[in-house]
Amino acid sequence: MQDSPSKRTFSPLQEWFSTGPRPALIAGPCSAESPLQLLEVARFLSGLNADTVLRAGIWKPRTRPGNFEGPGESGLAWLADAGRQNGLRVMTEVANASHVELCLKHGIDMLWIGARTVVNPFSVQEIADALRGTDIPVFIKNPIHPDLDLWAGAIERINAAGIKKVVAVHRGFHIYGKKRFRNSPQWEIPIRLMEDMPDLPFFCDPSHISGKRSLVPGIAQKAMDLGMSGLMVEVHPDPDKAKSDARQQLSLQGFSEMISGLQVRALDDFSLSGTVALEKLREQIDRIDADIIQLLAERIGLSREIGVLKKEKNLTIFQIRRWKKIMRTQLQSGELLGVDEQFVRAVYQLIHQDSIRIQSEIMNKKPETAKELRA
Ligand code: PEP
Ligand code: MN
Repeated sequence: MQDSPSKRTFSPLQEWFSTGPRPALIAGPCSAESPLQLLEVARFLSGLNADTVLRAGIWKPRTRPGNFEGPGESGLAWLADAGRQNGLRVMTEVANASHVELCLKHGIDMLWIGARTVVNPFSVQEIADALRGTDIPVFIKNPIHPDLDLWAGAIERINAAGIKKVVAVHRGFHIYGKKRFRNSPQWEIPIRLMEDMPDLPFFCDPSHISGKRSLVPGIAQKAMDLGMSGLMVEVHPDPDKAKSDARQQLSLQGFSEMISGLQVRALDDFSLSGTVALEKLREQIDRIDADIIQLLAERIGLSREIGVLKKEKNLTIFQIRRWKKIMRTQLQSGELLGVDEQFVRAVYQLIHQDSIRIQSEIMNKKPETAKELRA
């Protein structure tokens, strides 16, 4: 990720969303379909948890033309009304400046920027400019494709317009072809963003990751296990009849069951931190990490020497038989020791890539400097 020139400041969620236990909740239908539909969802949610924010799409970005594109401005009044009648705050998706203006006019409490809009810095900037001078909370979905800088850039554009109540929403990434999830979670991407923006609150949208209602609770649980603050979930009074994203929406009952079934673990356990048991284990981990780096450095030294030999003998860097043997041997050792196969593969692929990089540098140096590289 590139360094960012802008200074970022985010308001803690407890100051403006909810002081209750995790997860903070946003729930509601994919699309607003009628005033009655929104009233029914709002009534149910307010009975469950009065801090829940009611969501509904008013302008739906549809991949193919001819699908239901949301009710447009008239739906804003239904949404605001359903919220007001049930004491809930409400939110919807904005994709341009005129959406922002209409939402402000109708008293919508919070906004989100969708995955298809976050990919376009012109659109995000237009939204940021329309928000200037307000302090309405803005939730920013990850872009459709796994580009961390685009996600961070959108967060910075909104934050730079003076919006401090900003939240990142992880909704998964598009990959082409057959797949288990509608959008691949690639958890490592939100984790990288959490490292880079430790004060930024994170929500997960398990509905758009899953694409199918049976997978939603597992993803929601994983988000909790990673310490995310909240969930944005699509729920519908009659999910199979929903006008958009029917397969992934939970019934009201299904949502309530999912929330009560979540295992929410503490973010920190002050009775554990600082205890002798924990500190001892951490010391051992630190020692092993130091050994890992030391061994990697030694391996790199050997790989350099081999690079020099290959150059002298005019051999290719990549030798398929040798590489397959290394991988086979390490996978076997891993299996014996109970180390996950995918993990061993990923680690060795990285190690091998770095060897190739180092040896390519050696190969492409002038002959007289090759000896120096051996040192
Ligand atoms: C939505 O939340 O209904 C939506 C369209 O989300 P996304 O932008 O993540 O696809
Ligand atoms: Mn949807």
